[in-house]
Amino acid sequence: SNKHPSYLDTIEPPETDSGPPTSIYKANATLVMLARNSDIDGAVRSVRDMEDRFNARHGYPWVFLNEEPFSDEFKQRVGVLIRGQKQFGLVPKEHWHQPSWIDENKASEARQKMVEDNIIYGDSVSYRNMCRYNSGFFYRHELLQQYRWYWRVEPDVHFHCDILEDPFLFMQTHNKTYGFTITMYEFDKTIPTLWSAVREFVQKYPQYVAKGNAMDFISENNGESYNLCHFWSNFEIADLDFWRGEAYSAFFDHLDAKGGFYYERWGDAPVHSIAAALFARKDQIHFFREIGYEHNPYTHCPAEEDSWVRGRCACNRERSFGEFSHAIFAHGDRVTWIMLTWVAQTTTA
Ligand code: GDP
Ligand code: MN
Repeated sequence: SNKHPSYLDTIEPPETDSGPPTSIYKANATLVMLARNSDIDGAVRSVRDMEDRFNARHGYPWVFLNEEPFSDEFKQRVGVLIRGQKQFGLVPKEHWHQPSWIDENKASEARQKMVEDNIIYGDSVSYRNMCRYNSGFFYRHELLQQYRWYWRVEPDVHFHCDILEDPFLFMQTHNKTYGFTITMYEFDKTIPTLWSAVREFVQKYPQYVAKGNAMDFISENNGESYNLCHFWSNFEIADLDFWRGEAYSAFFDHLDAKGGFYYERWGDAPVHSIAAALFARKDQIHFFREIGYEHNPYTHCPAEEDSWVRGRCACNRERSFGEFSHAIFAHGDRVTWIMLTWVAQTTTA
């Protein structure tokens, strides 16, 4: 053939090309992304960031999940970025779609009402399927059964710093259950009856509430009402066994039976957060302050200069949301006014 020699011919392929580097990773952990085929460009950006800033040094496996089969293009363009193992899984139909026992008239009336109220994703059934899936099903997927820890990654997020310490090993060594970088307030109109369902559960199963829990993060009045604080669940590093455990399984079933994922628009963020705050101890919830992270429109950038320098962070510390996240976690809703002032300043700038 008349193939021209290329400079690539002179480069030896790295050894890891011969197979997944199963001996490299140290925690029983996986990176997991739920995505649509149409999310391909964002998926590529997120995976590239994650591999370059962390995973190329570890080779943790990836699991991609979708309720439709991934396209060859998706598998190819995302797969090329990953040296280690990657698996593309199909979400079982019974884990995804609106259950038949949901009253569709009631559900569609609720969606219509949310459209009139201008609530984001108010009319979307697929968004509700996704929220319910992330709340109660992803950890049951067969591809995740072998793992203890996961890191949730969404399309089109950014990791702004080199991640020099392995967060999975950190979680394991320090007995952590749930890790976050950003906290947020939920739109109350998406969850009008969530808290009463939570209270009912707690009254029925007081034995599941942990001693030393983080109730003060989610309530200003020891549980009478919800202050809308939650961990922004598009970033999660957590223990799959916590979701698979007795307390959370009962909790999810209780919530699911209320139908609020469809009659309202309950998000996986408040559901996960309330569970972590009640069924884990506060010291099992960890703020990853050194992980620079961005999901539009918010960024967490490490506030400490040494960690920003060490991580070669490509984010602006002055525009970070994270310190407020941590303050909210530590002190509850009392910092609301600081945060709202800050949001007003940075979003109008
Ligand atoms: P937002 O962050 O709340 O605005 O919601 P996103 O649109 O980012 O969705 C959250 C996550 O679920 C992302 O990982 C999406 O790729 C994924 N997702 C959302 N809707 C669907 C869907 O209908 N099918 C699949 N397979 N993934 C979805
Ligand atoms: Mn998102």
